[in-house]
Amino acid sequence: MAGLVYLDHAATTPMRPDAVEAMLPFLTERFANPSGSHRFARDARRAVDEARDRVAEVIGCRPGEVVFTGCGTESDNAAIVGAISRGRAVCPAAEHHAVLHVVERNHGTIVGVDATAHVALDQLDAALGPDVAVVSVMAVNNEVGTITDLTAVAHLVRDRAPNAVLHTDAVQAACWLDLRDLWPHVDTMSLSGHKFGGPKGVGVLALRDGIGVDPFIVGGGQERDRRSGTHNVAGIVALAEALAATDVERPTETARVASLRDRLVGGLVAAIPGTRETVPAEAKIAGSAHVMFEGLESEALLYLLDEAGVCASAASACSSGAMDPSHVLAAMGIDRTWAAGALRMSLGRTTTDGDVDAALDALTDAVATLRSRTAARA
Ligand code: PLP
Repeated sequence: MAGLVYLDHAATTPMRPDAVEAMLPFLTERFANPSGSHRFARDARRAVDEARDRVAEVIGCRPGEVVFTGCGTESDNAAIVGAISRGRAVCPAAEHHAVLHVVERNHGTIVGVDATAHVALDQLDAALGPDVAVVSVMAVNNEVGTITDLTAVAHLVRDRAPNAVLHTDAVQAACWLDLRDLWPHVDTMSLSGHKFGGPKGVGVLALRDGIGVDPFIVGGGQERDRRSGTHNVAGIVALAEALAATDVERPTETARVASLRDRLVGGLVAAIPGTRETVPAEAKIAGSAHVMFEGLESEALLYLLDEAGVCASAASACSSGAMDPSHVLAAMGIDRTWAAGALRMSLGRTTTDGDVDAALDALTDAVATLRSRTAARA
């Protein structure tokens, strides 16, 4: 929408025009169900196969290892539930709820994270053993942007839990990290179309050949029996288009967005006393600008920002609305007086220099307004 500053790319990204264009024929004349045997069906099947090849190329896996799903949440659920019958699940406390809630429901083991949201390797070590069936550690944290050292995690898991499937939720990684560097370390990996310029309601579970993960959704036997349900052909084609374009642009976009993010966060810390960057830039993805304002309430801040046309969030979108303290910040051990004033700004492909200027102005004004109200009440 014209005039608005969108800084919530971690919640969802605007669709890439090339991805919209790629999906349109499959919403109109090329509408067939790819499971059929006539020429219409064959056309749709070819499109799904081509999309699978493109996705595999970006992940660095085999096409047969790409399973199309309904979303990132489903991919995470499928990886964990599909392995759970063989033993215990383990994950860190800062995982997305799509992982955390599944592990909790199945009486798994939750391990701690450090002050930068990295999994505590000593606690992970202590939680592992031959009875562990699945370990899930996210590649990039959706709230604070921390990048996991998957090499170190994999080393530990292979050594201490040799029977475990190692899953990574890479939903927030696709825009910023080369997935080919992650895939060799894990057995299963989740992606979600709408986090990299594709449509909502379509995801990927990369599932290494020969790995013991039972199907989560059963029925018609699509996706070689690994995920039943009629293919979302338009969504799959658009996801592949968006992922391939993201992969090509990643090096330049990462550098461009990192410098915007550094200017935004640097400007806030310099201009507004009592501002803290939650995780240092070196430890996180380029698009993440997560800051905390001492003594403020995120809800009031978000309201004023929204009035000023700046769209950001407090915790992750899934848990905002209810302004509970973030489980991620709590796991990081951040004091409530800081955590209550957390602001997640997430930048992306459409973010401009002008957006950063507008956000700096709006935030400086909003924080000053809220602090003067508090001072007047005191
Ligand atoms: N995992 C992470 C890290 C996320 O950020 C999200 C979305 O917020 C999901 C999983 C869920 O993805 P989806 O919205 O496709 O269900």
